This record gives sequence, structure tokens and C-alpha cells, in this order.
Amino acid sequence: MTKITDILSLTLPELREALTDLGEKPFRAAQIYDWLHKKRVRSFSEMTNISAQLREKLSERFAFEHITPIKKFESERDGTVKLLYELPDKNHVETVLMRYEHGDSLCVSTQAGCRMGCRFCASTIAGFKRNLEPNEILGQLYETEYATGRKVSSIVLMGIGEPLDNFDNVVRFLNILSSPEGTNMSLRHVSLSTCGLVDRIYDLMKLDLGLTLSISLHSPYDEKRSELMPINRKYRIPELMKACRDYFDATGRRISFEYALIDGENDSQKDAEALCALTGGMPSHINIIPVNSIKERGYRSDRASAQRFCRLLNSLGANATVRRTLGADINAACGQLRREYEDTEA
Ligand code: SAH
Repeated sequence: MTKITDILSLTLPELREALTDLGEKPFRAAQIYDWLHKKRVRSFSEMTNISAQLREKLSERFAFEHITPIKKFESERDGTVKLLYELPDKNHVETVLMRYEHGDSLCVSTQAGCRMGCRFCASTIAGFKRNLEPNEILGQLYETEYATGRKVSSIVLMGIGEPLDNFDNVVRFLNILSSPEGTNMSLRHVSLSTCGLVDRIYDLMKLDLGLTLSISLHSPYDEKRSELMPINRKYRIPELMKACRDYFDATGRRISFEYALIDGENDSQKDAEALCALTGGMPSHINIIPVNSIKERGYRSDRASAQRFCRLLNSLGANATVRRTLGADINAACGQLRREYEDTEA
């Protein structure tokens, strides 16, 4: 990884400070920020209202690197586009653009690989490589809009990696994403999905960013959840649920729970009842996802089972829906494309 900060990873106040350090007028920062985040140029030389001398100084001080789409798959069924990006150090991550009635939503990765070890997840199998830098998370938005000509109206941090395990870079990404002088996306249009790093949920709560928190729950029982998700050995369900209630009380944002349904693992009547009891005390929504089988694991489910389990939850009074399956024809589930690519290239 490059040692100099990438200029795309700087907030506007930081850019101002950097320019003052370089002996330049602070207003130059706004001009440069506009080139980067509104006009989205790819090189210093395109910043035509900035002197050649300053552009030279900027290029000495900052990196300005790009992530490159090396594979692109478009669903013929539903407009889903999946991109595999190569990072400057040749790591890979994937990004998925999904079409919904209310607009296009982008699922971004926050780490190359993941160290959380969830049993059903493809992203974790080859282990953890590194955190993504803010410019690499932001780059997934900029490059995908460029590559597809589509405009993203919401973002979900649900791609490869655990966003709260890369806390500082993710928060910096969110600050840049929402800055009025840049892309100006309201963080109400952003969801962050976590396997449940409780300490970090509190850190996020204190920042009061206004985003939606999604919790990957997958079982209402500690024993089963620990088997599926090793993080549960550190942060148990009661502690996690308390953090969710506190998050809701502090921010007023309804919590979303993800539940990947797996045949014979977490799909019984008892599971449904326990899940309702757990989430019943606070405004929440449960998203049921039939588990996507990955070749390394034997977990299975299907849409009919997910619908059955969802009806059961609804009959028990829970606010639950089955997640629409998008991009089924292009293997759009998290981590699968990168895994296949790195498998065949290795
Ligand atoms: N690390 C974060 C976000 C990335 S995963 C998290 O754990 O929430 C995004 C979502 O996909 C999570 O809910 C995750 O549990 C789920 N997921 C991972 N692998 C899956 C699979 N094979 N089938 C269905 N959902 C899966």
C-alpha cells in the first residue's frame, strides 16, 4: 500500500490545512475538492484552474490512485451490475449496483477479505488481506457511476468485509460522501451492516450520523449464533440487543436485522418465536435472506422456505420481509466473484 495519503481520502478541512501548509490560499482547497468529488477528474493535470506549479506540489505530496474495474457482469433479469475492482496493490473487491423502484442502490466493500469468520460467508474463506482506504471505498461509487452511467441514490455497506472493523476509514468515507461540497449524499440513504461489534456500535452511535444500522443476527440463540458467527463468542446476543436498543434510543433510527435462513440450522418454529421475542421490544425490521450456498459449505435454503419463515414471523407480530433476490443469474452474492477470480488466477 502507498505510504502517502491519497488526496481523495481527505476531508475538505484537511485539504484546506494541507494547502495552508503548502503556502497556498485556503480557497484553493474548495476548487480542488470540487474537481475531485463533483467533476471527478482522474488526474491532477485535469484541474485546469489550478496552476501547474501547485498541481506539481500536490502530486509530490499526495497519491491520486484509482481502483480499476476488471470484470463487469450485468443481469439480464433485473438490471443488477456486479463489478470486480482491482486495487492499486492488486487486491480485489466487489461492488454490486442494484435497481429498486426508489432508485439505484450500491453495495460497497470495506475490506479486502474479512477476519470475522462467519461460517456461511464466502468473503471470509481466504482470510483477511487489509482494510480499504477511504478513497477505495469512495472509488467504488465514483467508478461504478462512471462505468454504468447510472446514478446511485443509496449505499449499503454490505459488501466484502466488516465495516466496523475498519471504523476510522469508514467514518471518513461517510464524512466525505455526505459533505455538501462533494457528493452530498444524505446519510439517511446509507445502511451499515455489521456482524455485531458492540463497542464499535456505541462509537458509531455517538457520532449520530443518521445512518441505518443493520445487524446480521442469523440466530436468536447464543449457542447456534456462536457456531455460525465466531464474533458471538466475544459479544453475546443480550449485549448486542442492548446496544441495538441504545442505538435506537439515541438516534431514533429503526434497526434492521438480517437473517440468512439455513435449512435445519435456524428455521424452526422455536427460532421464529425466539427471534420475535428478541426484536419485539423495539422498532425494527427483519430481512430474511435464503442463504446463498457457497461451494465450500453445505448450507442450503430456498425462497419458499424463506417465505414460509417470514409468514411465521408476521403471524407472530414481527415486521419481516424476504429480501428480493437480485442478480441471481450473475452470482451477485457477497464475496463469490472475488473468490472465484482469485481461485482461478492463483
Ligand atoms: N460484515 C458485515 C457486512 C458484510 S456481509 C456483516 O456481517 O453484516 C452482508 C450480509 O450478507 C450479512 O448480513 C451477512 O451475514 C450476509 N451473508 C454473508 N454470506 C451470506 C450467504 N452465503 N448467504 C446469505 N447471506 C450472507
